[in-house]
Amino acid sequence: MNVALSIFVLLPGLALGSFLNVVAARAPRHESIVRPGSHCMSCGQAIAWYDNIPLASYIVLRSRCRRCGASIGLRYPAVELVTALLVSGCVWKFGLHLEALVAVFFCAALVAISAADLEHRIVPNVIVLPAAVIVLGAQTALHFSAEWTVAAFAASGFLLLIALLYSGGMGMGDVKLAFLLGAMLGRTVAVALAAGMVSALVPSIWLLVRHGSKARKMKIPFAPFLALGAVVALFAGKALLDAYLSFF
Ligand SMILES: [Zn+2]
Repeated sequence: MNVALSIFVLLPGLALGSFLNVVAARAPRHESIVRPGSHCMSCGQAIAWYDNIPLASYIVLRSRCRRCGASIGLRYPAVELVTALLVSGCVWKFGLHLEALVAVFFCAALVAISAADLEHRIVPNVIVLPAAVIVLGAQTALHFSAEWTVAAFAASGFLLLIALLYSGGMGMGDVKLAFLLGAMLGRTVAVALAAGMVSALVPSIWLLVRHGSKARKMKIPFAPFLALGAVVALFAGKALLDAYLSFF
């Protein structure tokens, strides 16, 4: 049942991803996400509906604007595909339950925040703050407990401490993102933070190897790694946490 349903939601998932591309591009500039309609970032040409079909248009147009030929970033189809897979995964994991809806909303916020951070090096307040409030309210209503609030403050407090101790690496945007993670994941937010930090080591080491001591001044956007950790925790957090705790 869940498998059939999770395949069925792939197409709406692509459409949601297409919408998140608009959110990620416009939220950092405080532009409306409704008006004007989609347009080419280079020539401003409005994009016709038949050129605005998720994934398909990118392939048909061979990643170029139909009018001016400017290249369309790989971010667009990537965001659409990742969103569709996450929506599908949430339905497969949580089934036809309100929990799946909260999980989809959470994943959508993570995708938009990651795309904005990769492109503009910013975690937009207009996304992360409302998302945190909504998720905290929903989780507390669905599973009445102080766990979500405690985890939200603990996770953001932990990153705030790191941001204060090592200036430069982490930003206040990441601290707010950690609050959202804690609100959704409860105690398994520990898994998300650990997985996020370990995965962020990969590009850090790569920069160090390539640029030596100069790499210390280079910043990597941290939100996508926190988001990756959050997805790991959302789908496998309990199993990973239990496995870890059973060592002691
Ligand atoms: Zn164009």
